[in-house]
Amino acid sequence: KMGRKFVVGGNWKMNGTKSQINEILSFLKTGPLNSNTEVIIGVPAVYLDYVQSNSPANVHVAAQNCYKAEKGAFTGETSPAMLKDIGVNWVILGHSERRQIFGESDELVADKVAFALSSGLKVIACIGETLDEREAGKTEAVVFRQTQAIANKIKDWSNVVIAYEPVWAIGTGKTATPAQAQEVHKSLRDWFAKNISKEVADSIRIQYGGSVTGANCQELGSQPDIDGFLVGGASLKPEFVNIVNARQ
Ligand code: PEP
Repeated sequence: KMGRKFVVGGNWKMNGTKSQINEILSFLKTGPLNSNTEVIIGVPAVYLDYVQSNSPANVHVAAQNCYKAEKGAFTGETSPAMLKDIGVNWVILGHSERRQIFGESDELVADKVAFALSSGLKVIACIGETLDEREAGKTEAVVFRQTQAIANKIKDWSNVVIAYEPVWAIGTGKTATPAQAQEVHKSLRDWFAKNISKEVADSIRIQYGGSVTGANCQELGSQPDIDGFLVGGASLKPEFVNIVNARQ
C-alpha cells in the first residue's frame, strides 16, 4: 500500500457527556492501539479543549467543523486559529451531515479546506454519494465533482486525508461491500493520478466511512486502496480499538 500509514478517525458527532468521554478516553488509554495506525478522534467543539488535554499522546484530536476565517463576526463558529490555540491540529470538513443538514456546498467545503490548511491544520475531507445518486449511476461523477471543488482551491495535498463515505451507508448499518468501496477508492486514486499527480495519487490516504464495525473492518481494511476508516457510531464504543487495529 505504497507506504501510506493506516489512519482511523472516530467521528463522535453530537454525542458525549463528560462521563461518557472519560469512558472513551479510558478505553483509548488501555488500547492497545497499533502504533502503525494514526488515530484521530472528532470531538464536539465544546469538549475539544478537555479531550485535547486528557487524551493519550498517540491519539490526535479533531474538530468536526470550522469556519473559513481567522476571527470576527461569525456567531457560533470556530476558527482554525482557535483550534490551533488549544493544540488541536486536525479538522473534519464536509461531512455529509454538514452538507445535507446544514446546506454546505462543495464550494464552501472547499473554501474551508483551503483555509484550514493555510492555517496549519490537517484535514479529513469527506465526500460521498447519496443512494439516489448511486442508483442513477452517478457515484463517480459526484465524488469527482466534490474532489475537484477542493482541487480548485488547494495545491498541497500532503495534509489532507480523503474520507469516502457513501451517504447511504452512514449511520444506517448498511456497509458498502469491500468490493464496492474498493471500486470507488480505486477510481478516486486514478482521478488523482490523472488530474493532480502520480505522487499525490500514490501518497494520499483515502478512508472508507459508513457503518464500519469491529466485525467488518478487517475485510474492508485489506482492500488495496482503503487506507483507513472514518467511524461514527462505533467510535463511541470499545470496539473502536479493534477498528484501529484492523490492519496488523
Ligand atoms: C460518520 O459519521 O462519518 C460515519 C461513518 O458514521 P457511522 O460509522 O455511524 O456510519
